[in-house]
Amino acid sequence: MPRIAIVGAGLSGLCTAFYLVRELEKAGKDAEILIFESDSVPGGKMRTIRQDGFNLEWGPNGFLTNKPFGMELVKDLGIEAKVVRSSDEARKRYIYSGGALQRLPETPVAFFRSGLLSMKGRARIMCEPFAAKAPVNVDESLGDFARRRLGPEALEKLIDPMVTGIYAGDPERMSLRSCFPLIHNLESKYGGLVRGMLCLKRERAKQGVKSKMSAGPGGVLVSFDGGVQTLADELASPLNDGLHMNVSVDRVERRGGGYILGISERGVREELEADVLVVATAAYDALRILSPLDEGLVDALAAIPYSPITVAALGYDAATLGNPLDGFGFLIPGTEKRKILGALWDSSVFPNRAPAGMALIRAMVGGVRAPELASLPEEELLALVRRELSDIMGISAEPVLAKTFFHDRGIPQYLVGHGALLEQIDARLAELPGLYLNSNAYRGIALNDCVRESKLAAERIAQAV
Ligand SMILES: Cc1cc2nc3c(=O)[nH]c(=O)nc-3n(C[C@H](O)[C@H](O)[C@H](O)COP(=O)(O)OP(=O)(O)OC[C@H]3O[C@@H](n4cnc5c(N)ncnc54)[C@H](O)[C@@H]3O)c2cc1C
Repeated sequence: MPRIAIVGAGLSGLCTAFYLVRELEKAGKDAEILIFESDSVPGGKMRTIRQDGFNLEWGPNGFLTNKPFGMELVKDLGIEAKVVRSSDEARKRYIYSGGALQRLPETPVAFFRSGLLSMKGRARIMCEPFAAKAPVNVDESLGDFARRRLGPEALEKLIDPMVTGIYAGDPERMSLRSCFPLIHNLESKYGGLVRGMLCLKRERAKQGVKSKMSAGPGGVLVSFDGGVQTLADELASPLNDGLHMNVSVDRVERRGGGYILGISERGVREELEADVLVVATAAYDALRILSPLDEGLVDALAAIPYSPITVAALGYDAATLGNPLDGFGFLIPGTEKRKILGALWDSSVFPNRAPAGMALIRAMVGGVRAPELASLPEEELLALVRRELSDIMGISAEPVLAKTFFHDRGIPQYLVGHGALLEQIDARLAELPGLYLNSNAYRGIALNDCVRESKLAAERIAQAV
């Protein structure tokens, strides 16, 4: 029976294992599936810390239903009853601009009425259908794309905070094609964004699907009754003896037609042979493990940088807060020169994040804008966040709970040239049959993307074994 080893039990590793079991069953094939995780808890970045009745998300707080993959996984796992939908309040999103929180309009009409952008900025957006064509054969940066199609003010006040909210990254360096392939395709297929959205709306209407044009992200944000950890636990539990926690894979060599894994568990080292190897870790861990194997592969992995980010969770007695937290939270454009990137009002988005009568805010610090702030000592960082929340939201109440989660290398940055790196990686993998790389470092950083890529990886592996 072939042995399939998966390194990493984050969403990508767990989901690859889950879909592999199904695909092998469908194909009437048998294989031993082993998954190794160096940490003591499954889920990787997708983790919930439960403390004093609060559900504190370490990283992600849920996924959007604008892509189907997360909800398909929920159905495949049979855990629909554990899904919670974000409250309607959460549709109100804010941008901190000109020294105040301003509501991000939800519809194009509301957008043109709002004062978030100057008259000139709004007029420039209206010229989008007449924008210059995309440069040919150029991996355009998000910054260049936004300036070309929407103008400099939209880049500064809308695109920059959006990129910060998703990647904690720099739009001038990030690749449009790799970060937002749907937007890139909208332009290349329909010749423009407004034209593309109108065509899509018409195509959907023909298929009987109602859709609204929206200035915010489409779909509804959903999560789970016990936070995102629920999803990790549900994926982990059927793996039983196949899931090995606190086991680190330190190196990999190629021997015969397979791979020899050097693994260590509480200081004890041993070797294990596998026919198929899926490395479902961050790119920097993959390159460390695979360094004895292939120089070209390692060079490409080393060229995928990560932004550091710290999540500061502050719990309050709602009665002392003096702010209704009526919305999703806010993001801050870089030009405002604030010390936090933005904050999510978690207990308004998902009421189960805080006990009754309490409120929970999670502020983001660092990113490529201010990497040094992410690694401040906890006391200093919490004091900084409290000063910022006082200036921006007028919150001076004493928190009943304060905790920080530091992600040294938190979010992979798909820079201009990322597509070429993926081609280099694919070319090297073609020379290493049985080796697969699958994590958020490559083709999408959202939970939805991780599920889609894991399902695809499982299908390919089940065909090959
Ligand atoms: C602050 C933050 C907020 C986010 N918010 C959202 C959000 O709201 N919505 C959304 O869709 N996405 C969000 N994301 C992105 C999302 O969390 C990630 O893309 C996703 O969780 C990545 O999963 P993964 O399995 O690819 O990688 P990881 O979660 O990084 O998993 C990799 C696993 O490999 C293990 N590992 C590493 N090396 C070894 C080794 N040598 N041996 C054994 N195991 C090893 C690690 O311990 C880890 O468990 C956020 C990310 C961050 C950091």
